[in-house]
Amino acid sequence: MTAVRTPPARRLPAPVAALEQQPELMDAACRDADPELFFPDLGANARQKRTAVPSAKEICYACPAQTACLVLSLTRGELEGIWGGRTPRERRTLMRDTVALRRDVRHRIDALERGIRVPLRANDFLAVVHELTLRGWDTERLAHATGVGPDTVVRARARASLAAAVRDAMEPRNRSEPAAA
Ligand code: SF4
Repeated sequence: MTAVRTPPARRLPAPVAALEQQPELMDAACRDADPELFFPDLGANARQKRTAVPSAKEICYACPAQTACLVLSLTRGELEGIWGGRTPRERRTLMRDTVALRRDVRHRIDALERGIRVPLRANDFLAVVHELTLRGWDTERLAHATGVGPDTVVRARARASLAAAVRDAMEPRNRSEPAAA
């Protein structure tokens, strides 16, 4: 009698595999991917870093679990590897952006809505762009009001949008609402 061979279970790269039972990661695109892509020795081998990181990111960007993976890694304080398409340094920046969005910028928003130009520090700028985007301001209006180029606004909007999505996933009770006028 011929034995029926069971196909090997599809695994997530370790230590993403530690989250194997997380329902959010059931559709993870990195199943069966080379673990070295996601956990390269970033310090020891620059060449490996140059090839592994873009390859891992490419897989992550097509992954339906990308945001969930990113949130899990931030919640768990993962210090190594590519999670949700982000390197450890990029995840630290993202965490700082989520904190920046908590800044109280109501007075600055009030001034900008009255056409008054106010000085904005980097963290305030991110929060202001986010809140005014929620209020329907477009890129051109934001750029004019804050005195920066449209490219700077577009980049800030993308950063703020991701930070807000991650913040809301980590703290569902604090979903994005426009700041009180
Ligand atoms: S986002 Fe990347 S590391 Fe996370 S589950 Fe998807 S493919 Fe894997």
